[in-house]
Amino acid sequence: MHAGSCLCGAVRYEVHGELGPITVCHCSKCRKANGSAFSAVAPIARADLNLLGGKDALAEFESSPGMHRVFCTGCGAQLYSRRDAMPDLLRLRLGTLDTPVEGEPSQHIFTSYKAAWYAIPGDAPQYPEHIPT
Ligand SMILES: [Zn+2]
Ligand SMILES: [Zn+2]
Repeated sequence: MHAGSCLCGAVRYEVHGELGPITVCHCSKCRKANGSAFSAVAPIARADLNLLGGKDALAEFESSPGMHRVFCTGCGAQLYSRRDAMPDLLRLRLGTLDTPVEGEPSQHIFTSYKAAWYAIPGDAPQYPEHIPT
């Protein structure tokens, strides 16, 4: 089981079940949302997220049609995103976890939009845009 919280501590959650493969997204929206070079996310089942506190502190920003970024209004921390097209899946922002995460990123996506000042470490696959299907 994993547990996490936002920066101010208002939002606290547990994840029951496995984290999916870690994806590092370098798109400009993730960079801006996080104020950093990328966002590191892992898919989880919506049913596995147990919000322990801070439900009223959560707000959403629709950064693309049907794509909602959920954050804490007290501190601005990005907690997860959800898509209207995939109601049973959330993409957890790994930086909010307080418990250790096993493994390393499985892939880097939208690397064509990557910050020029950041060099991607490791040999995980890099995709210029979405993961090819
Ligand atoms: Zn907060
Ligand atoms: Zn992104």
